[in-house]
Amino acid sequence: MTKKLSYQQLKDIDREKIIHPQSVPKQNADEGPSMIYSKGDGIRVTDMDGGTYIDGVSMLWNVNLGHGQSELATAAYEQMNEFAYGSQFYGNSNEPAIRLADKITEYAPGDLDGVFFTSGGSESNDTAFKLSRFYWQLQGFESKKIIISLKRGYHGVTVSAQRATGIEAFREFSGSGDPHIINAKAHLTAAEQGDRTSSDFEKSIRGLIEQEGADNVAAVILEPVQGAGGVHLPPDGYLQAVRNLCDEQNVLMIADEVICGFGRTGKNFAVEHWNVTPDMISFAKGVTSGYFPLGGVIMRAKVKEAIAQYDQMLAHGFTYSGHPTGCAVALKNLEIIEREGIVDHVTEMEKELQKGLHTLQEKHKCMTKSRAIGLLAGFDLMKDPEADQLFENDVKAAETFVKACRERNLILRKFDFEDGMNTVAIAPPLIITKKEIQELIDILDDALTAVHKKWENA
Ligand code: PLP
Repeated sequence: MTKKLSYQQLKDIDREKIIHPQSVPKQNADEGPSMIYSKGDGIRVTDMDGGTYIDGVSMLWNVNLGHGQSELATAAYEQMNEFAYGSQFYGNSNEPAIRLADKITEYAPGDLDGVFFTSGGSESNDTAFKLSRFYWQLQGFESKKIIISLKRGYHGVTVSAQRATGIEAFREFSGSGDPHIINAKAHLTAAEQGDRTSSDFEKSIRGLIEQEGADNVAAVILEPVQGAGGVHLPPDGYLQAVRNLCDEQNVLMIADEVICGFGRTGKNFAVEHWNVTPDMISFAKGVTSGYFPLGGVIMRAKVKEAIAQYDQMLAHGFTYSGHPTGCAVALKNLEIIEREGIVDHVTEMEKELQKGLHTLQEKHKCMTKSRAIGLLAGFDLMKDPEADQLFENDVKAAETFVKACRERNLILRKFDFEDGMNTVAIAPPLIITKKEIQELIDILDDALTAVHKKWENA
């Protein structure tokens, strides 16, 4: 029997033993973890200290069916009892992986027709980079190695995904590097969106392809809607323009749908909003609603068929590629999404969320540029939006606001960028109801009033 540990004991052990991912180590070493989650139910999670919170960002935009979904737990349990793990190496397979590949290619747009499984988003993007370079190699284009990504894109933290990430702190961390990855200057910040057209973005990527030479460029990667870069929707025509550019220049287009995929934006995949078929889609997170680490790359028939003809060992793959338990959870997750009409529900809830955010924006002067597609939303905090005036850095506007929400039992995510923009992200579980959205909006309202008062008196 494991010894029961008190809340304080757990905090102390965590503080002493764990280096947390994407956290401030010194803060953790000094103060211990900010929450120790102990229970989840629907859109809510409970901290071991007893507090219950609305999970306004589905943890890391992944717990799409919400917490405590027992059907997913049962699917994992049953699969584990039957056959918990088997590898896909050396040509082996398992039924859940086979069924999942069939299901995912059925969902995917256009002629996306083959799947390579991974254990998460970063691995998926590294896989997409390697497979696109390999694809060109097979076509006799040995020099096509460069991957072009966008400023403010987030693609993960493995060495190549890190370099593709266009957020400086991640891109530069530890000085690790993949020399064949470059960042376009184009950036989809909401501030620019109004003034810049899709052709500006196209020009920025075109400029890089021309600078490097199309013979050296393997692929362009982008998120259809940027997530961790501050929730930015593309201008109309943008994805189509990139698609056309890639076709014209003989470059593959990779859509990173790690956040967007499986209903988050009100479509199975976000590229469907703009009728674009990329050459590869990387996915993870929502495929299992976070109940099991799983990801993958879906590829168009021409890529899959070229690779399928390779007659030596494909020197790439993860121990957990095609994990039967993960795939069984994903299959159940997709079954529930279909059965419950979740994707249509998201479109309906988008309207509620947009309406609520709009009302708040009218009421609170510091809130601006609210945006939402499906249940992926964000807004900026500015000192004076009309005068285009940002908050001073020491105000820590987004951090202060997110803290105020937390004090009101709502978990949100903040982004404060080096250019001084303060952004707040909202991405609740896709099962959220109209009433719960109103509850979330009411908390935002109250927190905005509180911080505004504080900032005015400062
Ligand atoms: N791509 C996008 C768009 C993401 O948002 C993330 C994670 O947030 C990743 C890739 C990396 O995924 P993971 O953390 O599973 O490696």
